[in-house]
Amino acid sequence: MLKFLFAFTHLHRWLMLCLFFIVQMAAFALPCPFCHSENAEGAKLCRLCLRAITWPAKPARSHSADVIIRTGSDAFIHGPDEAILPMRPMCKNTSDNRIGPLGSFSAPTGFRYLIKFDIPAAFHDARRHLEDFKITRAILVLHLVDESEIGIAHEDARDDVPIVVFPLARPFAGVADELARHRETDLVNWYQADPWIRWKHQGGDFVLEPSARAVLPRRGGSEIAIDVTAIMKWRFDQNTKSARWDDPGMILMRDPNVERHCQFRSIYGFQAAPDPIPIGSELQIRSPELYLE
Ligand SMILES: [Zn+2]
Repeated sequence: MLKFLFAFTHLHRWLMLCLFFIVQMAAFALPCPFCHSENAEGAKLCRLCLRAITWPAKPARSHSADVIIRTGSDAFIHGPDEAILPMRPMCKNTSDNRIGPLGSFSAPTGFRYLIKFDIPAAFHDARRHLEDFKITRAILVLHLVDESEIGIAHEDARDDVPIVVFPLARPFAGVADELARHRETDLVNWYQADPWIRWKHQGGDFVLEPSARAVLPRRGGSEIAIDVTAIMKWRFDQNTKSARWDDPGMILMRDPNVERHCQFRSIYGFQAAPDPIPIGSELQIRSPELYLE
């Protein structure tokens, strides 16, 4: 009798455990848009038809690359004189915004953008090794904001906006996506890299070389490809020497050494990335991308 009772409770436990897993699986199973088989939440490729079904594997890449990185954290920061930007209620200091300005307004380099790509995770997904990867080309792709989204018929920077990219010397507390939204004080801003560490130099600590340059068009356009090969080569070399991955990211600002009477253009940040749910159609990419080969 005792033996029977013991077996029964044991069986009962097992049944409960099985039920728990079935409920869990049902909660997370998402059908593939192509073959309709169920995949676990967060699956980038369908386990049956092997097609890319979710971000960041889908949509297909628009440039050639060995590894494409579409996730990371970022922040739009601005100087004290840029606090009030007409017609842009979404512009706060310490932006956790999906859209932000890059360029000049009151100060020449008043609107800056900090970006850090999640390079180790992308290498892991691509089954490539960071340690022995030799970079021959690195392209940073940024997307200019669709003007209908900011309620302005034609965003006009008055002149082309020359921009420069530098490697950051200190990590920052940015926002990865909508779910990771923090209080404003928990994030990076013009004065501090995170809630506890102030920048040595207001507006971000960075090294001046290597650097990269590009131009945002005065009006229109959809994407801008910036050749950041020198910066990424330098970063990979530094990391190979230290034998551990350490990458505070990059900072973008208007190039103050180029004479222009420009203002700024609005670009999309990581929060403009699509939701990670299975999709059959091709989406338009808006959030930043890094192509490495
Ligand atoms: Zn499938």
